[in-house]
Amino acid sequence: MADRSLAEVDPEIARCIALEEKRQHDKLRLIPSENYASAAVMEACGSVLNNKYSEGYAGRRYYEGQQNIDTVERLAIERLKALFGVDHANVQPYSGSPANLGVYFAFCSPGDTIMGMGLPSGGHLTHGWRVSITGKYFNAIQYGVRRDDHLIDFDEVASLAREHKPKLLFCGATAYPRIIDFAKFAEIARGVGAILVADIAHISGLVAAGAHPSPVGHAEVISSTTHKTFRGPRGGMIMCDEKHKKAIDRAVFPGLQGGPHNGTTAAIAIAAKLAMTDEFKAYAQAIVDNSRVLADTLLSRGFDLVTGGSDNHLILIDLTGKDVPGKVAAQALDRAGMVANYNSVPFDTRKPFDPSGIRLGTPAITSRGMGSDEMKRLGNWMADVVEDVENEALIARIAGEIKNLCDQFPAPGVPVE
Ligand SMILES: *Cc1c(COP(=O)(O)O)cnc(C)c1O
Repeated sequence: MADRSLAEVDPEIARCIALEEKRQHDKLRLIPSENYASAAVMEACGSVLNNKYSEGYAGRRYYEGQQNIDTVERLAIERLKALFGVDHANVQPYSGSPANLGVYFAFCSPGDTIMGMGLPSGGHLTHGWRVSITGKYFNAIQYGVRRDDHLIDFDEVASLAREHKPKLLFCGATAYPRIIDFAKFAEIARGVGAILVADIAHISGLVAAGAHPSPVGHAEVISSTTHKTFRGPRGGMIMCDEKHKKAIDRAVFPGLQGGPHNGTTAAIAIAAKLAMTDEFKAYAQAIVDNSRVLADTLLSRGFDLVTGGSDNHLILIDLTGKDVPGKVAAQALDRAGMVANYNSVPFDTRKPFDPSGIRLGTPAITSRGMGSDEMKRLGNWMADVVEDVENEALIARIAGEIKNLCDQFPAPGVPVE
């Protein structure tokens, strides 16, 4: 029974996976938090490392049989330290949200004051938004972006920090198309005795490759996912200065989690090794270049973009001036083979489940090797669809053209028949 293949044991699930492989091949995946993990990363995730329990840290485990796991975890840590230039890395958080919970648990008690960017301005739930445990268990102060240009309002960040004296100041975002000025945040944190936490979940691949400035030297603690621009497995990591090493490690285990996911740890080590290559540096730069070309194309077709453009991997279209809401536009785009997500824009007058924006990004399509010519075609297809969301003949024609384009740019790690 335990030896039978997936197709034999569970044809329903096998079929879902096969169909998902086809979807990931046939469509342009534009959700900025998504990517195609490398084939080697996928292999490690599905390996026998899944079967091992390893509570504790290398050399200090609570279970025997760690001869290979300790080597794997040490490799992951050493590679991240070299890649990012940090004193310490913890690779055990199960994902980005648990990584942030680990940071809170290392430094805060319930009721303490923390500060982060509000969700409607592009911050993450775990930066203190009210529905999140981080907004309920802590006194969360939220800063935002300016009304006129939608850039981070540093005057507001500084005055709120002076008034509330947070223990932690989070910077980093989930829907912000511009460079994060870590030095400015560090100055504000220093002035009020706060620990600056840079959450680079979206941009860690760009940071590793030098395509976005690094928070190292500015933020004492850096949290991240490992599956977005970093192109690794679903996972999380926390990097920090030597002085915070003990607090961070203790917070993750035994504070927050049990056994680490060893297949994930191995895949993080692989992703870190790949991120050190010139090929990855070129990839990260191409993500940013593609985002700029796509943004320029959309602007030339009359779209409003939040902050007027993009200098990272991400674009936020503001449809307020058009007749079509974000959800209707995103659904029409999906039918045409372009998968983005609808999203609130700053100061949105519509509800979060039916907002005015579309969020998209270039990490996944750049992993397929697409470049500026493809971005121009994509921008024009998007404009054609959004301007005519009920024209099913047009949508079907574009879906066919996109399928042809996708056949020319196979997706890494995705088998095709
Ligand atoms: C994606 C993201 C997270 C959370 O990651 P999960 O793996 O989805 O838990 C945290 N912070 C930021 C800024 C993110 O973009």
